[in-house]
Amino acid sequence: MAEALDGGCACGALRFRMQSAPMFVHCCHCKDCQRQTGTAFVLNALIEADRVELLSGDPQPYAMPTDSGRPHRVFRCPACGTAVWSEYGGLSKLRFMRVGTLDEPTALPPDVHIYIRSKLPWVTLPDGVPAFEAYYSSRELWPAASLDRRKAVMR
Ligand SMILES: [Zn+2]
Ligand SMILES: [Zn+2]
Repeated sequence: MAEALDGGCACGALRFRMQSAPMFVHCCHCKDCQRQTGTAFVLNALIEADRVELLSGDPQPYAMPTDSGRPHRVFRCPACGTAVWSEYGGLSKLRFMRVGTLDEPTALPPDVHIYIRSKLPWVTLPDGVPAFEAYYSSRELWPAASLDRRKAVMR
């Protein structure tokens, strides 16, 4: 298990600690992520909620509209509004941590690029990292240990 990764919001009121490496890291180029972040893509590290320790602050959920109708909530620092993680499909046991809020975002490069059909044309993808027009099969891509971890979360 990798060492803990700390992160937080822009104003410093909200601090958290990922107690281990995530299961997988998404770089999502979908239009929703572009709009919600105001930039070209989002970086999400998928991890069990109980491996995220809240060190300070009080993250507040914001409901996002989705095409699928499945719930998506973004959690933000109430003081500065920085988005620190997302929760999809009402699955509160699984967190999508915003990698850019880590003190060391270089620690978690993307394991996969998804929804590249809406990737901005000037973003060049690296060689050797799988990329998909839309979503992908985690069963084919994730390490076995990560699939086991997710299975435990879904239980
Ligand atoms: Zn803040
Ligand atoms: Zn997306």
